[in-house]
Parts: sequence; C-alpha cells; structure tokens
Amino acid sequence: MGDRVRYEHDGAPTEEHPAVIKEVLPRDNYLIRRSTNLSRQSHVIASNLDQAVLVVSLMFPEIKLPFLDRILVTCEVYKVPVLIVLNKVDLYREEAPELVAAFRQIYEGAGYPVLETSARTGEGIDALRERCRDRINLFSGESGVGKSSVIKALDPSLDPKIGKISAAHLQGKHTTSLYEMYRLASGGFVIDTPGLRGFGLVDLEKEEISKYFPEMLAVMDDCRFVPCTHTHEPGCAVKAALEDGRISAERYNSYLGMLEEDSKFR
Ligand code: GDP
Ligand code: ZN
Repeated sequence: MGDRVRYEHDGAPTEEHPAVIKEVLPRDNYLIRRSTNLSRQSHVIASNLDQAVLVVSLMFPEIKLPFLDRILVTCEVYKVPVLIVLNKVDLYREEAPELVAAFRQIYEGAGYPVLETSARTGEGIDALRERCRDRINLFSGESGVGKSSVIKALDPSLDPKIGKISAAHLQGKHTTSLYEMYRLASGGFVIDTPGLRGFGLVDLEKEEISKYFPEMLAVMDDCRFVPCTHTHEPGCAVKAALEDGRISAERYNSYLGMLEEDSKFR
C-alpha cells in the first residue's frame, strides 16, 4: 500500500481496462510487520508514508504509554514522521487538565507534535486536515479511540467502518487486505490500519534501542562508555538528562521495559 509504480495504458485507465503495472518504484520508507512472534517472516504494511498519525486518548480507552512508545520506536526505525493526535479531549480535558498537560510535556519534550482533537465537537479537525493535505498519512489507533470518527470528520464522504463493509461486498479482492486507502477531498491519502497492535519491533539489537528515542539520541554522544545501555554505566549522559528532567521518567521507563523484553527473546 502506498507504493509508486510505473504503469502502461493508452488513455485513461478504467475499471474494465485497468492499467498494467510494469514496475514498483523504490520505496522511501516502509513499515513492516512480523507475521507471528515465532517466525522471522515479515511483510510490508505500507510504504512511501509521509506521516504516521497515531490517534490516542487519555480515557475511554486510556493509552498505555509503554505501548505508545513502542510504536514511536517502530516509526523511528522506519523513518516515518509522527503526529500524535490526542482525541476525545471533550471527555477529559476540563476535568483533568493536568493529565493533558503532562502528556504534552512528555511527548513534545521528546520531540513529537501533539494535536488535541475531538471528533465530537470538531475541535482540532481543521488543523489536522491541513497537516494531512497532499500527504500519504497512515492512521493508526487502538480500537475505540475514535480513529474512524476522526477520519470521517476530516472528510464526511468517508466512512471507514461502513467503507469496510461495502468493500467486502463490492470488491472481493480487497477483503484480503486489512488496510484501506482513502483519498481525502481536501487532498492527500489516508491509509487506515486496524489497531496499533500489528506493529512489532523488527530485529533491534539491545544497544540500538536508545537510538530510536530521539531525546536519548540527542545526548548519548556524551556517555562515557560506548556502547552504553544507559542503565548502570558511570558517566551516562542519558541518566544525567533523566535526573535533570530533560528526559521524562515515563519514556525512560518504557526504554527499560524494551531492553528487558529484548533480552527475554534472545
Ligand atoms: P475507532 O474504533 O477508533 O475507529 O473508534 P470510533 O470512531 O468507532 O469511535 C468509538 C466511540 O467513541 C464511538 O462511540 C464514537 O462516537 C466515540 N468518539 C469518537 N471520537 C470521539 C470524541 O472526540 N469525543 C467523544 N466524546 N466521543 C468520541
Ligand atoms: Zn548512557
């Protein structure tokens, strides 16, 4: 999905006389997914992405930060810029402004843009539409965060939930693909992915993980030891940044979790 191709056709392609794809052009980036935990097989989810739009909510359902951080690492590995969309703010921002502020501080502090939206009130939707314009946007989000509602708010002619049903009826071929690609009336494309869980970490060495935390990458040149796991080594610049608040405790905690999990599988 998202591949650029060279095709041949005399005149404009129609459904009865489709174009013939001659060549898939080289990819700028792509996300892959391991088929199962045990197999080393992986397949391309989507390519030539301009942006991954990660839709999350602080309540109903509450995003688990270590989980979000794993996905952010995956996006860093595959060089896909991220936009975090904090949806459903109408449900919790007034009652818990400190939660929203803390979330923004963690992720903006790590270098990720955060956009507050409500598919219900329409807040933030114009801004999101602007950021998606003329780009290939991969939308991802746990079930229930309002990803379909946000896509529908961006372009009311789209209905991802119903879209999947009608696609199943009309184009049997497309039902094998879990991913749907939509053109936005305002320009650009949305690739809708089912849930966030499909993303796995692909072959990251323990020593590599911290490179994909941008705020750690920014300081790790100053660690005394190379490589440094940023756990027990003296003169560690990451630990120093953690202590003075330049790196958040939550992100560091996610990093430790990934280190531990990584060693479990090796
Ligand atoms: P998806 O599973 O992520 O595609 O989520 P849906 O778009 O189906 O939304 C799940 C539920 O949350 C539905 O009942 C929506 O009406 C509701 N919902 C979606 N976005 C918002 C929002 O911004 N605010 C509120 N209050 N409810 C929302
Ligand atoms: Zn270190």
